[in-house]
Amino acid sequence: MTDVLRIEGLSKSYSAKPALFDVSLSVADNEYVSLLGPSGSGKTVLLRLIAGFEQPDAGRILFDGNDIASVPAHERGIGFVFQNFALFPHLSVYDNIAFGLVNRERDPLTDENVLRSKIMTMVDLVGLKGLEDRGVHQISGGQRQRVALARTLVSQPRIVLLDEPLGALDANLRTRMRGELRRIRSQLGVTFLHVTGSETEALAMGDRIVVLDNGSVGQIDTPDAVYNRPISPNVARYLNCYNLFEGAIDGNAFSNGVHRFPLKGALWPNSVPAYAIRQDLITVRQSGVSLADGEAGLTATYLASEYTGAAFMYFFKAADGHIVEVEGHLSHRAPQNLDANSTYQLVWKADEALVYG
Ligand code: ADP
Ligand code: MG
Repeated sequence: MTDVLRIEGLSKSYSAKPALFDVSLSVADNEYVSLLGPSGSGKTVLLRLIAGFEQPDAGRILFDGNDIASVPAHERGIGFVFQNFALFPHLSVYDNIAFGLVNRERDPLTDENVLRSKIMTMVDLVGLKGLEDRGVHQISGGQRQRVALARTLVSQPRIVLLDEPLGALDANLRTRMRGELRRIRSQLGVTFLHVTGSETEALAMGDRIVVLDNGSVGQIDTPDAVYNRPISPNVARYLNCYNLFEGAIDGNAFSNGVHRFPLKGALWPNSVPAYAIRQDLITVRQSGVSLADGEAGLTATYLASEYTGAAFMYFFKAADGHIVEVEGHLSHRAPQNLDANSTYQLVWKADEALVYG
């Protein structure tokens, strides 16, 4: 696979405050890359630099191996889909999709037949057949999202940058559009760089995930690797499925002064020591039973549970005041009847924890 996009040492500050620092990554031809990070981590700034809406302070952006520093935004061959869709409110679906082709500076499309055939192919692809003559205020949010996508794709960009494209949709529609986006992308063979603040969306969509951590690259890997082996406490935190403890390595255990967890397996080098155990790898037991060899655990008070459809989330308060979350998938565990304010033992396999230090 060749790289369509390569970013080398990109940095950008506003009023001497770094928004991006030394970001390097590459995106292969025909790849779907998710860019995950919490709000303010620099996701939009990175997309704006790639698109050419702003200039970096340092670093290079290579498109097909060529530095594009001097290429203006509209000549980069890069598509952009905005979170708020940014459609022309007074134009029809058809004219919104046609706008760029008809009005572009270089080589505007004037042949009505060619134009119509291009647009109708796109209307069909994104599932808007029959709606092309409607005004964009006469269609639903999900349909407007499809117009925004069609309008970008019709100019045949090599790469499309999507900035939280599903953020404005309700939860149901968001899930449905995920599958649609993947289908449309693979049908066209176009490269997607999709920004999201949602870990489930990033994991579901990307062939690879780039995690942005305070303006720097936290991790780049497959969804499976990022989910199972986050390389830093921050990346683990952004995945929203780990319980994290800060503390220190103390002999053959990790300790935070209140809890001690025996160390098994490798240590992940990190300047901030931390202990992470995934919410779904924890078992709830009656208290008072001692841990078996190879197990780690703590006693905690049960607070409440929340039913999420396929799973239950159980919330506990540990002795150090930490809220510990335990996820029970109903496909492999029956829901547990726990007594509020009673003490239980939370147990996991010591070698399934990730220890940073
Ligand atoms: P997000 O990951 O939520 O998209 P952004 O990329 O928008 O985050 O912003 C990253 C950081 O850069 C934030 O601290 C933001 O306040 C700052 N920032 C972004 N654009 C500007 C700007 N035009 N002027 C000043 N600060 C900015
Ligand atoms: Mg943003």
